[in-house]
Amino acid sequence: MANSLHSNNENLPSSKSRIYLSSPHMSDEGYEMQYIQEAFDTNWISPLGTNVNEFEKELAEKVGVKSAVALSSGTAAIHMALKAAGVEKGDIVFCQSLTFSASANPILYLDAVPVFIDSDEETWNMDPTALEKAFKKYQNVKAVLVVHLYGLSPKMDEIMEICKKYRVPVIEDAAESLGSYYKGKHTGTIGDFGVFSFNGNKIITTSGGGMLVSDNEERIAKVKFWASQSKENERFYHHKELGFNYRMSNVLAGIGRGQLKILDKRVEKKKYIFEYYKKHLQQLEGLQFMPINDWNESNYWLSCLTLNGKIRPTDVIDALEKENIEARHVWKPMHLQPIFKGYNYVGSDVSGKLFENGVCLPSSTKMSDADLHRVVNTMVMLWGAH
Ligand SMILES: *Cc1c(COP(=O)(O)O)cnc(C)c1O
Repeated sequence: MANSLHSNNENLPSSKSRIYLSSPHMSDEGYEMQYIQEAFDTNWISPLGTNVNEFEKELAEKVGVKSAVALSSGTAAIHMALKAAGVEKGDIVFCQSLTFSASANPILYLDAVPVFIDSDEETWNMDPTALEKAFKKYQNVKAVLVVHLYGLSPKMDEIMEICKKYRVPVIEDAAESLGSYYKGKHTGTIGDFGVFSFNGNKIITTSGGGMLVSDNEERIAKVKFWASQSKENERFYHHKELGFNYRMSNVLAGIGRGQLKILDKRVEKKKYIFEYYKKHLQQLEGLQFMPINDWNESNYWLSCLTLNGKIRPTDVIDALEKENIEARHVWKPMHLQPIFKGYNYVGSDVSGKLFENGVCLPSSTKMSDADLHRVVNTMVMLWGAH
C-alpha cells in the first residue's frame, strides 16, 4: 500500500514538487550511515571520538592545511577564529559587507567593532582598493575577514599583500566555498585562518556544523581547548579562561566524513547546473551571470545573476515561487542592516547594487534536467510576457 502510494506520487506532474534553493544531498553509497553506525556501535555519542578526529584529518588533507578543529557551526568557527587572531573588546575588524550576517555577528560577540568594506564588481567580494583606503583611515585593526561568496574568490593576492604590510591577520570565511580554489590553493588556506560550514544548505552538510583550519597548529590546539569549556589539565575542574561548548558531535562528524567522500561529485553537479542555466538564459535581456575569473575555480555553490533591465529580482523570485520553485535575493550587505547601522563602511555602492539587482537560482545537486528545465521555462516565459 505504502509502495503504491509512493509510486503514484512519482507519477504526478513534476511541477507539483518543490524545487529548493540548495537542499541536503546524502551519498548514494550510504557512507554517512556507515560512520554513524560506527559511532553507535562504539557508543561514542559525544563531541569526541573517531569520527571527529578523522573528519578533522580528512578535511585538512583535502584542502591542504596542517590542522583543523570541528565545531558546532560555521558561526562558532568564525567566533573562534577572531579570538584566535587576538581580537578583543574595542578592536576594529574589517569585514566584507556583502555576506551573510553570520560573518559579522561574532565580531559583536567579542565586543569588537566591525568596519564594513565594499565589494568589487569583478569578484563580488572584498575590494582591495576599499580595504587599503580603510587601513589609511583606521588604527587598532586586529583582523580582516574576507568571504568567498557563492564559491567566488576575492583578489586574495592583493588582499594578502595589503594585510602583510599592515601586519594584520586574515580570516577567510569559506563557508560557501568548500571545493573552490584560488590560483590552485584551496579557499580558506590562503590567509591565517579558514572557516567552513556544514549547515544544511551548504555544498556538503552534517545537518549543522563547522570547521576552523590553519597551518598554525598551536592556535588550533588553543581553539580545541576553548571550545571544550577551557578545562585545564587537572584532576578536578579547573578554569583559568572563559570556555565555550562549541565542539562537533561525533555522530554528526560521521555524516561529514561520508559527505566529504562525494564533495568532488557535488562540485561537478553544481558546475553542470550553472552551465545549464548559462546556456539557456544568458540571451535574456538585462541578465548577466556572476563573474567567472580565470584565477578562481569555483564550486558554484549557488548559480547567481544580476538584472539590469525592466525585469527586477522580485519579479523573477515571485514568478518562480508561483511554480513552487525557491529562489532568493543576493545577500543584503551588512552596512544596510538595521542591526549594524551604528558601524562605519568604506567603499561606494557596489555591494548595494549587487543586492538590488542580484538573484540566486535554485542550485540543489538533487535537481534533475526536468527540474532545471522548469526553472528555465518559467524565466523565459516571464521575459516573453514583458
Ligand atoms: C552559512 C554561512 C555562515 C555560517 O555558517 P553556519 O554553519 O550556518 O553557522 C557564515 N558565513 C557565510 C558566508 C555563510 O554562508
